Amino acid sequence: MAYDPDNIFAKILRGEIPSTRVYEDDDTLAFMDIMPRADGHLLVIPKTPCRNLLDASPTQLSAVMATVQKLGHAVMAAFGAEGVTIQQFNEAAGGQEVFHLHFHVLPRHEGVRLRPPGQMGDMAAIAEQAEKIRAALG
Ligand code: AMP
Repeated sequence: MAYDPDNIFAKILRGEIPSTRVYEDDDTLAFMDIMPRADGHLLVIPKTPCRNLLDASPTQLSAVMATVQKLGHAVMAAFGAEGVTIQQFNEAAGGQEVFHLHFHVLPRHEGVRLRPPGQMGDMAAIAEQAEKIRAALG
């Protein structure tokens, strides 16, 4: 399957639609998920195009995973989390809805279930959570 340069995350990368960014470097971007399944739920993407894990290059994967690890530590500190869940879906049958490679980073606490998918978050609360993550990144 071909990469669609008009997918929503490509538009976020180009600044054509808004996002709540928490971290970026030359190769990757991290921003808040607008339908958070946990407080602090964020997404990490490569800045270069690929649909998902199946067509990503080793270089893209290693850059993204380094940022996933960095943000994993940041959400542990920012939310006093006890664990972190990383999710990643490939193609529609695999649960993927946006076709630009992304990893979900979800801070977790014992006994607290993830919220159901598809529920719009409170943007003020998401902005506060983003600020905590930025602060934890120093
Ligand atoms: P999936 O492809 O199944 O990993 O799901 C895509 C994820 O992107 C979902 O968690 C959505 O809530 C999230 N999402 C969709 N549009 C936006 C957006 N404009 N900004 C931030 N997150 C988004």
